[in-house]
Amino acid sequence: MHFLPGAVNSLVVEDGQGGALLVDTGLDDGHARKLLRGLAGLNLRPTGILNTHSHADHHGGNTFILKTFPELKVFAPPLEDAVITHPILEPITLFGARPPRELQSRFLLAPPSSARLAPEPGLTRIGGAVLELLEVAGHASMMYAVRVGDVLYAADAL
Ligand SMILES: [Zn+2]
Repeated sequence: MHFLPGAVNSLVVEDGQGGALLVDTGLDDGHARKLLRGLAGLNLRPTGILNTHSHADHHGGNTFILKTFPELKVFAPPLEDAVITHPILEPITLFGARPPRELQSRFLLAPPSSARLAPEPGLTRIGGAVLELLEVAGHASMMYAVRVGDVLYAADAL
């Protein structure tokens, strides 16, 4: 297991066969580029993406990664998958209406990526990687923390 530190950390969970699940992809292309560069440096290929929740700084790098690896699937907790697929839902939820252009920043409005429902909380396998999902709703309407061995990746839950 590895992680890329940044304003938002990303977790890389190896599958033991040269692949790795990417957990959270950061705010933008720049973070995603560093994540892919780090992965290449480890001789790993991405096998999937898990977004812990739908805030733009956790899935804003998805589209950059999907341009290079369009076969990857994106997973997210319930409701969060809908926001990642339709990011305008995030500012609409916050403001109650579509925000004016001045407020449509990358911090509120990440590019859309087609996300699907992650497995239920518990021990699971995503993109070949074995991990435990823990429900930690509160910071977002639904949110998962990820435990791998003795490491807990809690994203914004703490
Ligand atoms: Zn957040």
